[in-house]
Amino acid sequence: MAPNKNESRHAARAFGCHLPLRGGYAHAARLAVQLQQEAGVRSYQFFSKNPRGLSIKSGYEADAQTAREICSEHGIQSIAHTPYPTNLAVDASRSPEKFQLTVQSLLNDLMIAEACGAVGIVVHFGSYKGISSTPATDAEKLSCYENIIVTLNTVLSVWNGRAKLLIENQAGNHGGLGATLEELVSIRQFSQYPDKIGFCFDTCHAYASGLWNPSATSELLMAGNRHDFWKHVHAVHLNDSREPYRSKQDRHANLGQGYIGIDGFTELLRAKELKRSMFVLETPGDASGGHMREWKLIQDILQ
Ligand SMILES: [Zn+2]
Repeated sequence: MAPNKNESRHAARAFGCHLPLRGGYAHAARLAVQLQQEAGVRSYQFFSKNPRGLSIKSGYEADAQTAREICSEHGIQSIAHTPYPTNLAVDASRSPEKFQLTVQSLLNDLMIAEACGAVGIVVHFGSYKGISSTPATDAEKLSCYENIIVTLNTVLSVWNGRAKLLIENQAGNHGGLGATLEELVSIRQFSQYPDKIGFCFDTCHAYASGLWNPSATSELLMAGNRHDFWKHVHAVHLNDSREPYRSKQDRHANLGQGYIGIDGFTELLRAKELKRSMFVLETPGDASGGHMREWKLIQDILQ
């Protein structure tokens, strides 16, 4: 690629990784600053709270405010990730308590993200009964979509902050839900508050579901443009896959060390459609959990 205006366009992209919450929000932000100095990192993801439950976190304001100031001072962007048990497809009539818990937890996540200055909270599309291996029938999928809309409308009817709800595509597990662009854009469009909803695009999930064939990246890019998808993608989870194409399994590999491979990522990373998105690794990293090798690969591609 010629080192012309494309270079500055690519170089402007923010990349980073998921950072541990141990030590608090400001601690994670300081870690990001350190990684910025060492490797040019300008974005990161953090769990809004304990990822294993839907408990409400309080008393976070001062710590979050410090994180926000650190990020703002250093030009670092962040996204928060909701806890694993969060299921947008929870059935409000059959499981009213679980539904209320989910709504309150999501509002708590949005408030934390806002306080930390994060762009939004990443939430998985949703699970059919929370079972990952059983494919849902069309009728079951339809009722899940209806549940997701109810959850989104309930949460967003009382949310007026800037932080967005960022819906993430899934690998084809979770009953097969949320693995296509059509599902993602439809859920957003059919909700009452599309402006409060964006997307997080996970490359491992897209590959495992068959949504993205790295040897035909232009097809994915064009489909995304047709569906008005990329405009609303605020973050990309940049993960290679330990399982083959269309395996429907969600197992992340280090960048360039999985089935997608570094050639597979090149066109996607350089695509103009993703120039506004931050790239965040959710990969195991090297033996010490570091991502220096992967960030160097990203920088090489973007140069
Ligand atoms: Zn992800």
